[in-house]
Amino acid sequence: MLDPDWVGQWQETMQAADSTFLEGVNKMFQQAVAILDLPPVLAEQIRECNSVYEVRFPAPTSKGWRVFRGWRATHSEHALPAKGGIRYAPDVHQDEVEALAALMTYKCALVDVPFGGAKGGLRIDPREYTEDDLKAITVRFARELIKKDYIHPALNVPAPDMGTGPREMAWIVEAYRQVHPEDIDAAACVTGKPVELGGVDGRTEATGRGVQYALQEFFRHPEDVRDARLEGTLAGKRVVLQGLGNVGYHAGKFLEEEDGAVITAIIERDGALHSAKGLHVEDVREHLRETGRVQGFPGAEYVSDGRALLELDCDILVPAAMEGQITSENAGRIRARLIAEAANGPVTYEAHQILRAAGVMMLPDMYVNAGGVTVSYFEWTRNLAHMRHGRMQRKMMQSRMDAAIDVLRAVSKGELAPSLEARLRHDVDELALVRSGLEDTMLEAYQRIRDIWRSRDDVPCLRTAAFVSAVSRIADYYRRFAL
Ligand code: NAD
Repeated sequence: MLDPDWVGQWQETMQAADSTFLEGVNKMFQQAVAILDLPPVLAEQIRECNSVYEVRFPAPTSKGWRVFRGWRATHSEHALPAKGGIRYAPDVHQDEVEALAALMTYKCALVDVPFGGAKGGLRIDPREYTEDDLKAITVRFARELIKKDYIHPALNVPAPDMGTGPREMAWIVEAYRQVHPEDIDAAACVTGKPVELGGVDGRTEATGRGVQYALQEFFRHPEDVRDARLEGTLAGKRVVLQGLGNVGYHAGKFLEEEDGAVITAIIERDGALHSAKGLHVEDVREHLRETGRVQGFPGAEYVSDGRALLELDCDILVPAAMEGQITSENAGRIRARLIAEAANGPVTYEAHQILRAAGVMMLPDMYVNAGGVTVSYFEWTRNLAHMRHGRMQRKMMQSRMDAAIDVLRAVSKGELAPSLEARLRHDVDELALVRSGLEDTMLEAYQRIRDIWRSRDDVPCLRTAAFVSAVSRIADYYRRFAL
């Protein structure tokens, strides 16, 4: 088998002169540094990854014992814990994990979540192993990280990413509890857990939900919509979606079912589906779950070269699979008006320049997929409080609403529109609180980066604005605490 490290480097060289993921993040960072005129030492302090732990460990599998290789990078500890997902992928490598950890630092600062940035990766193709295998491997990997405090409720808190989900997070929290049974805050050592193990309602959908809120907010600004050569609202917009995993599925489903967008193509590993009339995301996901492929889905055209459909004429392209999908090689052929980067790093630094010159609007990953870490923050605070969000206030809020309805009835002589009464009585459960906190965060962050973009001549796009916003906040932090 070819060495994935070598394949990774080769792929990066083959993308013509494209920067690697990490180089691209650092180039954007340097632009922000120049705009903010930061002293070089401070810039270096922020940019450099604080530490990377590489681990090789054996684990028993149904194919016999295997040795696995994984990483956890802590990019920044200016706020603790450092936060970031763990991805399982056959070609994950250290540079990628460092790039993702850096993005986490900037993302948390952008959406005002008080965490440093981290990321983990395990080199494995999860599809090659049974559930029991994956449990044994995950528990061993987690123990290695726990031993060195690379998993710890106060210091370093993972979450799901590509190839992992609530199931893996449940195994990690179990492993942590075995090592630290005395830690009363053990549940906070990882987020994205199943609800019955201390997870928060709405975490699984959170990143996709955040993508939806980001797009909804974009369409509330007619000037921005016009600049993207679009008009109107999300309703009827033709959307091409790449990746039907956690993020892509939820984003596509909400955009289709709640905003009336038309999902004209879904691109997956084995190819893509195309239908000008629109695909029903739920049905495609069910087919993918049952067969492991999109091929064979009835009522849509199947295209074996799925990546080619990134170039389909559409209004919005939502890359929600992985990094490096739009490079200097294909950027010139992209016909979308707007790209909402649901995945991390789907557009290379060079592709970004080409797309910008062609007038394609990009909503940057650091902003668009920040819903995951935002709701992880809600989960972490819930775990430290040892109480479900809203538990103390729920009954009181209901009583106040009853009183308000009585007053409204009295002044309107008993007449109250049923729809208004239903809205007032709408139960404020944890899911409603989480969604409202997430929506507020996404709206506020968009307005902040938009203000920077619109008010400064030296900030040419939303991505630069997002970096300027995040880096200036981190710089302020370092200055204040003279770290
Ligand atoms: P996932 O593993 O649940 O889903 C990824 C999907 O993409 C899978 O369906 C996979 O088959 C598909 N895919 C993989 N390679 C592909 C390719 N080359 N072409 C087309 N499809 C491909 O992962 P996820 O959690 O949805 O993460 C997707 C992206 O979103 C990643 O970049 C991740 O870093 C980012 N992200 C995830 C979260 C989260 O909460 N899960 C949060 C922020 C950012």
